[in-house]
Amino acid sequence: MTETLFTKIINRELPSDVVYEDEHCIAIKDIAPKAPTHLLVIPKKAIPRLVDASDEDKALLGHVMLAVGEIARQAGVEDAFRVIVNNGADVGQTVFHLHLHILAGKTFSEAQLGF
Ligand code: 5GP
Repeated sequence: MTETLFTKIINRELPSDVVYEDEHCIAIKDIAPKAPTHLLVIPKKAIPRLVDASDEDKALLGHVMLAVGEIARQAGVEDAFRVIVNNGADVGQTVFHLHLHILAGKTFSEAQLGF
């Protein structure tokens, strides 16, 4: 599999602002933040899209969701944040290495699902 942009960031071949890292995932500040807090939580395994995850990724996906909570706590936004996964170019996915957006620090209207 060709290296993704995020694999290069994980491997420190490209610079980024890392706010969290463990054995299975990393969290970085988004380079073009859409909210005062905009973090990307990226599993180290390069699954292209959420829909490409399989049964063997169950534990990894659970791990990543728990990491989201920990990262939100560390960022001080645990009481109000939104998690978004874009799956597919038509909904705005631009990097085909699964990642979860954590957005916080602004008000999202009920109807507004995106950012
Ligand atoms: P997507 O649109 O695929 O759901 O999200 C990709 C995100 O990655 C975008 O919000 C974009 O701003 C962010 N991004 C793209 N390139 C870089 C980069 O080189 N460094 C960082 N930190 N974020 C990036």
